Amino acid sequence: FEGMTIVELSKRTGETIPYLQQILANIGESFDSEFEPISIDIAELIAMEIGINIRRLHSDEGAILLPRSPVVTVMGHVDHGKTSLLDALRQTSIAAKEAGGITQHLGAFVVSMSSGASITFLDTPGHAAFSAMRARGAAVTDIVVLVVAADDGVMPQTLEAISHAKKANVPIVVAINKCDKPDADPQKVKNQLVSEGLMLEEFGGDIQVIEVSATKGIGLDLLEEALLLQSELMDLKAQIDGPAQAFVVEARVDRGRGPLATAIMKSGTLSSGNRIVVGAEWGKIRAIRDMMGKVIETAGPSMPVEIEGLKGVPLAGDDVVVVHSDGRAKMLSAGRKSKVEEYRLNKKSSPKSVKFADND
Ligand code: GDP
Ligand code: MG
Repeated sequence: FEGMTIVELSKRTGETIPYLQQILANIGESFDSEFEPISIDIAELIAMEIGINIRRLHSDEGAILLPRSPVVTVMGHVDHGKTSLLDALRQTSIAAKEAGGITQHLGAFVVSMSSGASITFLDTPGHAAFSAMRARGAAVTDIVVLVVAADDGVMPQTLEAISHAKKANVPIVVAINKCDKPDADPQKVKNQLVSEGLMLEEFGGDIQVIEVSATKGIGLDLLEEALLLQSELMDLKAQIDGPAQAFVVEARVDRGRGPLATAIMKSGTLSSGNRIVVGAEWGKIRAIRDMMGKVIETAGPSMPVEIEGLKGVPLAGDDVVVVHSDGRAKMLSAGRKSKVEEYRLNKKSSPKSVKFADND
């Protein structure tokens, strides 16, 4: 977020410089010069005052990017084995073996492999969750695993899943499940998928197909390898240093610990003690837990974490941003809340959006 000044903001929003300076004064910020760069938080507060939306775009410019693990969502027709497959994959994790199974439910889990590579799986199969997240701008999924039962073949929700993935521009890896069944016919499934327009590898395309059995634990290692290969092709990278950005996948209230949000880290490093704004909620992070329920001090890209310390419960798809002070966090949260309320009451159409790269 470098170089954004009052002058620039005035150009982009069409508001006069004195008016913007007046808003700054009203929110208790003073600036020596209209050429002085302002932070993304201040820009958002101003934007709220003048009724426009700000999208925080994290700019990678000049940052050191390191490879990150893929974040995977499992989709497919009901009863084709999404939940069984996630359970089976969870059991393949070294961490799960060491801990004697993971009891913690986080809405996401990480499979770490002996090669040192890892894959983050979102634990909420289904198209509704995927679409809801996308609708809120949370591009959290890198790869979709399309589960198709070998005995049942392509069904309506299979097609829906394909369409969701295509719309979101997220690559698909196909898992033909229930291959242990006597009436399994993987070849038939492949033909069906090809006639639905999926460019499968063995037909000269680039979509990998793996035959698995979730309940018998067959082909899971091949599926994991296929996902890693897909993620290598995508060259997934993230900034490790710098301000954290994350997306909420689940949130709830715990009677003892208060509001808890599970988030998937997108970039940067999140640290205990950080002041964060999450959607319209805010808080100071009291504890970060990993998927084993262990308290950790910091979290990096692609990690699912549970965040404790929010004042209220955010929504799935909300973004997590780090701000500099309690005051700033409170102000942003209050502004966002009243904006949400305003649109709820007036059912106004969304205000015009101005995009800002956040390099803060
Ligand atoms: P979901 O609705 O897609 O989450 O499907 P579930 O995971 O709940 O599975 C639906 C049913 O299919 C359950 O009775 C599972 O035990 C069964 N099932 C799932 N995977 C397999 C498999 O690989 N082989 C066989 N034989 N049954 C399976
Ligand atoms: Mg299920």
